[in-house]
Amino acid sequence: MASNRNSSRHQTARHRLSVIAGHLQRPADSNAAVLAVECKAQEIRPTVKTDDRSEGRTVPRRRQEIMKWNGWGYSDSRFLFNKKGQAEFTGRRYRLSGMIIPNLKDWFEGTFGANLQHKTPATPILNSSAVQRPTLNEVFVEELKSTGIPFSHEAEDRVFRSHGHCLHEIFALREGKIGRLPDMVIWPNCHNDVVKIVELACKHNVCLIPYGGGTSVSSALECPPEETRSIVSLDTSQMNRILWIDEKNLTAHVESGIVGQDLERLLNESGYCTGHEPDSMEFSSLGGWVATRASGMKKNIYGNIEDLVVHIKMVTPRGVIEKSCQGPRMSMGPDIHHFILGSEGLLTSSSVSSTH
Ligand SMILES: Cc1cc2nc3c(=O)[nH]c(=O)nc-3n(C[C@H](O)[C@H](O)[C@H](O)COP(=O)(O)OP(=O)(O)OC[C@H]3O[C@@H](n4cnc5c(N)ncnc54)[C@H](O)[C@@H]3O)c2cc1C
Repeated sequence: MASNRNSSRHQTARHRLSVIAGHLQRPADSNAAVLAVECKAQEIRPTVKTDDRSEGRTVPRRRQEIMKWNGWGYSDSRFLFNKKGQAEFTGRRYRLSGMIIPNLKDWFEGTFGANLQHKTPATPILNSSAVQRPTLNEVFVEELKSTGIPFSHEAEDRVFRSHGHCLHEIFALREGKIGRLPDMVIWPNCHNDVVKIVELACKHNVCLIPYGGGTSVSSALECPPEETRSIVSLDTSQMNRILWIDEKNLTAHVESGIVGQDLERLLNESGYCTGHEPDSMEFSSLGGWVATRASGMKKNIYGNIEDLVVHIKMVTPRGVIEKSCQGPRMSMGPDIHHFILGSEGLLTSSSVSSTH
């Protein structure tokens, strides 16, 4: 049994290596034309507002309305080769969008020896009917309804929260392989909603997986295949407000689901910045940064996330944990942030953070 599993793992690994390797082998005839793909640059669809709280925020509740289901980023933004074989970047979101990049093909081929003929098309659309039915905990669902907190057990919502961005996770999606999924997705709107959800989950023996931006590269968002209890993805994306900015102490009180690009833009409007820029900041969230002890490329000046956070309010199965003051450090007693930072979902959900 175990050796069967190993050999099928090896087969998958070999197949994926050949997919990657194919891109690195120059074709025998290096003058061969690049396959022209018709440019289908699309207009961006406005972010659908699920309610007033998403005003000016990037991530809607239904991420599938703007984002790729099997890759990084917005579904309207990607590279393709036009009829003349020139690279183009589609969409209208970035400075590069809609532009032709005439030398990109030669640069790829010349610098990396890339083989642009090698094509490995992904499964084009998500086949919702192939997705396993959710295991719902009926009493949990009934009590949740009475709180008014929005939730969904639609296949698309669940698939989007079933993975991060590890190479093997994205490969599996491109190959249309969908494993164990969360059975439900819940969108708390504030700290008190998180408290209610955690209390209900404890009461009814339901598993919770906090989900911020879904950019995890440590498999932390994967659902254990052997788990028989109902698994609920607690999507923090709608907890995306800056509650206050303290201009004297240069701190801000921010809900944990805000994504980096929104946090930075909103702080910039008041003349401030976070000083925290992981490469994933477009979509990764403040709560995710805390849970993964993230590091950004400006850390030599501003420090890593542990140097920027002064206060975390964390909801656990045993209640809410937070320091008793807003000061950055105390001499008395152990610093509870040391076991919260980097806990990667081990301790349930941080709902609010203050940062320098
Ligand atoms: C292209 C790319 C570039 C990257 N660059 C960097 C980089 O420069 N520096 C870096 O450090 N990392 C980087 N990463 C890794 C990743 O972006 C970080 O780990 C990031 O902090 C994850 O944040 P997230 O909001 O996407 O969290 P998710 O992926 O949604 O979740 C990650 C973990 O945190 C938990 N979690 C999320 N939100 C909460 C919450 N509110 N409360 C409790 N637990 C929570 C989840 O349960 C999970 O265990 C990169 C990843 C990609 C794909």
